[in-house]
Amino acid sequence: MRKILIVGQGIAGTMLAWALRRKNARVHISDGNLAGSSSPVAAGVINPVTGKRFVKTWRFDEFFDAARSAYRSLEQELGIKIWSEQPVVRLLATAEEANDWSARCALPDYAGHMAEITDAGDWSPHIKPGWRLGLLREAARVNFAELITTFRKNTGSGLEFRPETFDYQNIDRELMEYDQIVFCEGFRAVENPFFPGLPWQPAKGEALLIRLREGPKSVRIHQMLKKTVTLVPLDENLFWAGGSYQWYYPDTEPSAGERDYILNHLFEMLSAPFDIVGHVAGIRPTVKDRRPFIGQSRIRDNIFIFNGLGTKGALLAPYWAGHLADHLMDGKPLDPAVDIRRFVMGG
Ligand SMILES: Cc1cc2nc3c(=O)[nH]c(=O)nc-3n(C[C@H](O)[C@H](O)[C@H](O)COP(=O)(O)OP(=O)(O)OC[C@H]3O[C@@H](n4cnc5c(N)ncnc54)[C@H](O)[C@@H]3O)c2cc1C
Repeated sequence: MRKILIVGQGIAGTMLAWALRRKNARVHISDGNLAGSSSPVAAGVINPVTGKRFVKTWRFDEFFDAARSAYRSLEQELGIKIWSEQPVVRLLATAEEANDWSARCALPDYAGHMAEITDAGDWSPHIKPGWRLGLLREAARVNFAELITTFRKNTGSGLEFRPETFDYQNIDRELMEYDQIVFCEGFRAVENPFFPGLPWQPAKGEALLIRLREGPKSVRIHQMLKKTVTLVPLDENLFWAGGSYQWYYPDTEPSAGERDYILNHLFEMLSAPFDIVGHVAGIRPTVKDRRPFIGQSRIRDNIFIFNGLGTKGALLAPYWAGHLADHLMDGKPLDPAVDIRRFVMGG
């Protein structure tokens, strides 16, 4: 039976381990619980339309179907609740934004995902007045923290967990034990000697956890709310609020500057009072051409990478984990759009 080591258990390593186990590989995962990891702090939101120009995400429908199916299967297998489909109420600040939104809603490829609305739903009593409003359908949230922690506990029967940082110096010894090693190290892959020269552009992100102050009744909200930052309901009165983007950063810690940036946006959006109950930071493994990094090292045989999920790990990880598992186990070719061989100088 094939024996594969996965280095790193964020959302990439978790979904790859699951896909490989389904093909009956023996899988070991090593994770050193390193500072700055992205998955533990991410909201896990999947959004069909992003950016200032409201552009539909690359191959969204295909990836969304794969994500829904994978996360729902994991819910069944692990006995957890990690997938929730909830629309996003989009606050549109200017007439130009509202016009752009309206124009997109009229396009056949967008009509199923976007709508113009006049009522902010559950958010109505909590936001400042005067916004033009849009609605995004087919949005969802994946609870990464719950998935990763439960998956890690569920070892045995072909899946083992090694709570340690992989030492590149030990590669020869490790390759005597494993048939293949796949690196899923998030932003730390920038320093991986087996994949030099890949065009990384890591982006630090921060988020606040806020609690809306209870009025006479506690607050139950079933939609996300987005302008520049996104509010994601986590529990009664409790919300994830973020994230920020920094391409130059001195460390992986939460910072006062980004807290103030997020706060200013929240004050602009919300009329309801709230308290900050948490502040987190992580580094997104973003890349210049915004396509995943998948493929084999040019330096050593039997060493692979699954990375570059950028800002969209929740949507991309299930589809591309399945794709890489097909390649490793059944020899199916990699899609050139994600194969690291697209870079002449790449690993
Ligand atoms: C503030 C913020 C908000 C975000 N919001 C969203 C969102 O709403 N939706 C979305 O889809 N994405 C979001 N993202 C992006 C998302 O987090 C990433 O796309 C995804 O989590 C990347 O997962 P990964 O597994 O590749 O990397 P990571 O999650 O960083 O995991 C890498 C793992 O590898 C381990 N590791 C690294 N090197 C080694 C080594 N040598 N040995 C052993 N272990 C090692 C680390 O400990 C870590 O556990 C957000 C990111 C941030 C920072």
